Amino acid sequence: MLMTTARPVIVWFRDDLRLTDHPALHAAAQSGAPVLCVYVRDDDSDGVRPLGAAARWWLAQSLRALEAELRTLSATLILRRGPAAAVLAELAQHSDAAAVHWNEIEIAPHRAVADSLADALTVAGIAYHRHRGDTLVQPNAIRSKDGRGMRVFTPFWRRVLSLGDPPEPLPRPTTLRAAPAQPSDQLSDWQLEPTTPDWAGGLRATWMPGEAAAQRLLADFLARQPGYAEGRDYPDRHVTSRLSPHLRFGEISPRQVWYAARFAAAERPAIAPDIDKFLSELGWREFCRHLLAEHPDLAASNLQPAFDAFPWRSDDAALIAWQRGLTGYPIVDAGMRELWHSGVMHNRVRMVVGSFLVKHLLVDWRLGEQWFWDTLVDADPGSNPGNWQWVAGCGADAAPYFRVFNPVLQGEKFDVDGRYVRRWVPELAGLPNNLLHQPWTATPLELAAAGVELGGNYPRPIVDHKAGRQRALSAYAELRQR
Ligand code: FAD
Repeated sequence: MLMTTARPVIVWFRDDLRLTDHPALHAAAQSGAPVLCVYVRDDDSDGVRPLGAAARWWLAQSLRALEAELRTLSATLILRRGPAAAVLAELAQHSDAAAVHWNEIEIAPHRAVADSLADALTVAGIAYHRHRGDTLVQPNAIRSKDGRGMRVFTPFWRRVLSLGDPPEPLPRPTTLRAAPAQPSDQLSDWQLEPTTPDWAGGLRATWMPGEAAAQRLLADFLARQPGYAEGRDYPDRHVTSRLSPHLRFGEISPRQVWYAARFAAAERPAIAPDIDKFLSELGWREFCRHLLAEHPDLAASNLQPAFDAFPWRSDDAALIAWQRGLTGYPIVDAGMRELWHSGVMHNRVRMVVGSFLVKHLLVDWRLGEQWFWDTLVDADPGSNPGNWQWVAGCGADAAPYFRVFNPVLQGEKFDVDGRYVRRWVPELAGLPNNLLHQPWTATPLELAAAGVELGGNYPRPIVDHKAGRQRALSAYAELRQR
């Protein structure tokens, strides 16, 4: 029913920085009331995990893009900072709002904030509407026989698929009734972006945050299939969608991705296997979100409590060498440098560097997770710890601890021509392919011909592969004996 009241309705933007398939915005627009769009920066209060540096940079760009999109509908974006429930309840009263709309985020601290907002609005006699759209399926809709969330991916994904298509994406509003202006923070005052030093040059060169860019990436990705199922493991091939930061900040919704992908497969049946694989990767995002909904401390606690007694080593020098891409293992160093430069790392290489940290170096996965949290533009509260626990062997449906990636073989298999290593570790570029992933096996003449000085312009391996592997297996055996 169309309301003509002059009282505004508020739309609270969260990790859903888009206009299309935004159920809260859609409902507010449909109400016919003037709409106030608000983003509250509350990541240093309310128990919400503060964003890392790369994600803060992304957020600033994404908010600018959202504000520009809203302007095309003659609306503005109000920025406020503080505990979201208190800030929004105050704004709702001050603006005499008739209602507040938001999309739910099924993560404990976010849910708790939304619950307190709902309570505050109830006390103030203001209506509120909680919408859904962050996941394909509600976390509590998928339960195992014992009533808990599912811990094994394959049956989880089968169950998601058995539920059929998710609700169809909602259209972008064509008009919004403008509400009287309200005071707003200046985005620049939030200091989300680095200034001195400005280390974000690589991020700017790599990414275009925002909804329009996300839509373009998705369309380009679907147009260039087939090849995903086979090519997605090769870091030097531009095969994957690169949608992860856009999904992280909700610039595109999982169901938009789902429907576009299904439509592409229906149009071109030959790409159906690639699309199925791609959607199952989106399924891992879903799986991690569901895990997080059930285990709010996913970034801090081993899902398998047996790992609480794991004999992690404290080795700051090794951790720093790993962070800086100076381990002496080219594929590991390439990945860590790609991450530092561009805020992202190819999935295969994430698995390799993660395995190297927790197995060869025997450093606690939480330290790797924290580094990724600070440096990834797609740092996701579910996918980051969920995958780290998977890599470390202590998570749900995890890789067994005793499966230790050999960084030389991984490099030779997935960076066959050495293009990835040569790009990110240019000091090794002159080595032939057969030595590129293990420069320590080169003769002095071969090293000199390539301009490589081990222990000089490129480090020797900080741990021997066989010794590191054996130490990891012994630590695991020790854990099993306890
Ligand atoms: P595509 O292959 O195009 O996949 C499409 C989408 O599916 C991705 O955008 C992403 O949303 C989702 N997806 C794909 N693989 C996974 C996965 N293994 N787990 C969860 N979702 C997945 N992904 C993040 O989005 N944020 C993180 O913080 C994150 N941390 C990771 C940490 C480790 C140690 C590892 C091994 C993986 C991590 N991943 C994370 C998963 C994966 O590496 C990225 O999602 C992927 O590299 C993004 O590239 P893409 O968008 O081109 O992926």
